[in-house]
Amino acid sequence: MPIQGGSSTGTSKPRHAEIAGGGFAGLATAVALRQRGWTVRVHEKASELRAFGAGIYLWHNGLRVLESIGALDEVLYGSVRPPIYETRLHNQTVSKELLPGMGWRVMTRQTLHGAILAAARREGVDILVDSEVVSADPAGSITLANGQTLPADLVVGADGVASNVRDSIGFAQDRRTSRDGITRLLVPRLKQQLGPGEWDNVIDFWNFEPRVLRILYSPCNEDELYLALMAPYEDPEGSRVPIKLELWTRIFPQLTPVLEAAAGISGRYDRYQTTVVERWARGNVALVGDAAHAMCPALAQGAGCAMVNGLRLAMTLEKHPVVAEALKVWEAEMRPLTDRCQERSANYAATRGMSKGNQFTPTILETARYDPLEGRLVG
Ligand SMILES: Cc1cc2nc3c(=O)[nH]c(=O)nc-3n(C[C@H](O)[C@H](O)[C@H](O)COP(=O)(O)OP(=O)(O)OC[C@H]3O[C@@H](n4cnc5c(N)ncnc54)[C@H](O)[C@@H]3O)c2cc1C
Repeated sequence: MPIQGGSSTGTSKPRHAEIAGGGFAGLATAVALRQRGWTVRVHEKASELRAFGAGIYLWHNGLRVLESIGALDEVLYGSVRPPIYETRLHNQTVSKELLPGMGWRVMTRQTLHGAILAAARREGVDILVDSEVVSADPAGSITLANGQTLPADLVVGADGVASNVRDSIGFAQDRRTSRDGITRLLVPRLKQQLGPGEWDNVIDFWNFEPRVLRILYSPCNEDELYLALMAPYEDPEGSRVPIKLELWTRIFPQLTPVLEAAAGISGRYDRYQTTVVERWARGNVALVGDAAHAMCPALAQGAGCAMVNGLRLAMTLEKHPVVAEALKVWEAEMRPLTDRCQERSANYAATRGMSKGNQFTPTILETARYDPLEGRLVG
């Protein structure tokens, strides 16, 4: 792609961004900036570029980002839109939501990450692995673990929930961990073995008696099924990995074939984190994604919000040439929507309110309905 001029100093030299983190937030932001004429370097501390976890949901807001950065076709090809989101309580159906008019897809994390990474490579984003960012300076630089300091017109901290960029600058923050957590696994669909049933639906199985356990059953494609097994942190058996097969099949006998497959995977149990940061930006440094607003997964919006905010950051920088000013405008515009999403997610997680069914009310879907290209709610 042609590199356009337009630096804040009025020269034709392209503006340059250094980005910490090669996850969904860092890569999506990198592509959006590159498409607008920036030179961009992404630093990933791991030795390979990959997404941790199993499956992921994206809604209209996140899908529009993929469209904008040229990653949508690959994701559509490798994902599904389940016909129904069904909620069951004690194995009785309490609701079947069709979500008419709402774009939403379920996919493996590798599918999503691979599509964004391919877009980044096509656009010529410079990506370094084994490159850990240890700190950032609001005047416009990052320092790497190898001691190198690199100047930039813009620094993006997209380095996740334990962000070094955020912590090195000293943004005040409130971090909370929820009482529940999830073991996420990818297993074969095994539709034949499951027997008769609407196994193409998402099925959200909740159970409170004799103990709190939940399984979110989410087909990702024809072959792969994402199982999210929720248990309270204080339940040593429910939170055990590999999973205690006898416990889960006793409560959810209809899922026995896929639970047997899940029991053979080591897996990892994660509690939900919520991080509220006093500010998302200081000087020429912006925080994007979990570094800025890690949220409970109840609304399945953490990555969606991350990518939306990354795209909107690049769009705002197009209109406001002074970086520090642009970051203020961007935060003022995007923060209220993200804050509301984070609060609603935390509330659903704390009350376990999704178990009542009919969970996707217009209010709950507000973030999903946000269109980052139009800058307004749609649908
Ligand atoms: C159980 C669960 C289910 C979820 N389900 C969904 C869902 O369905 N839909 C959805 O939208 N969201 C979901 N989320 C949230 C989503 O996973 C996160 O919001 C998203 O991964 C955040 O992306 P990120 O790029 O900000 O951070 P990360 O994905 O954490 O990526 C950060 C990257 O930065 C790298 N890094 C870290 N530190 C440094 C450093 N110092 N220097 C360089 N690199 C560094 C890391 O190695 C990593 O590659 C879920 C979360 C959980 C816990």
